[in-house]
Amino acid sequence: MRDRLAELVRSALSDAFTFLFPVDCAGCGVPDVELCDACVASLAPDLVSGVLPGCASNVRVSSGVRFEGAPARIVRTIKEDGRTGLVRALVPVLDAAIRRIDDTAVLVPMPTSRASYRTRGFRVPDLLARGTARPTARWLRAVRRNRDQRGLTREQRAANVDHTLRADAAAHGVRVIIVDDVVTTGASLAEAVRALRKAGARVVGAATVAATPRRLS
Ligand SMILES: [Zn+2]
Repeated sequence: MRDRLAELVRSALSDAFTFLFPVDCAGCGVPDVELCDACVASLAPDLVSGVLPGCASNVRVSSGVRFEGAPARIVRTIKEDGRTGLVRALVPVLDAAIRRIDDTAVLVPMPTSRASYRTRGFRVPDLLARGTARPTARWLRAVRRNRDQRGLTREQRAANVDHTLRADAAAHGVRVIIVDDVVTTGASLAEAVRALRKAGARVVGAATVAATPRRLS
């Protein structure tokens, strides 16, 4: 509850600052606008999907847009500059990806590391999931620290994330969709599937705002 309140205050403050001190477009840098019309248009859902690796390979991941150009810059701006007000623009993209999978499942956001939460003060997958106003439960948590995934091959990523997550027992018997901002190789999502299944959840799919081009199929 305290987390949620802190996020609401932060989001309100960020909106207020945007009003007082106009910012540049998060997608292309044109001045005095949070997000310009062209960059808003770049967020029109253009669904892509693929399957997860390993024993989660019967689980489909649906993504709203490709992680490139303006959408990629918008996601990075949220994370790096803390412009959480921009999450609102990504929610419809995620929602379109979710609708492609299932309209009734509970959303389970991917956990982020404690270190990144301490640095940023917010978790993008949580903000996205809650933004959809769909039932959301934070049933996944990190139990083992993994190395930064960047620069690792698909196989190295899978080994790096193996058994790093644990799911809450409350997920037992519940139909769930895992939610994240971006899917790259799908190794982290596959680990989330493993953890949720171990807790007895029925994973019906994964949904992300964006997919890196090599995920496309
Ligand atoms: Zn723009």
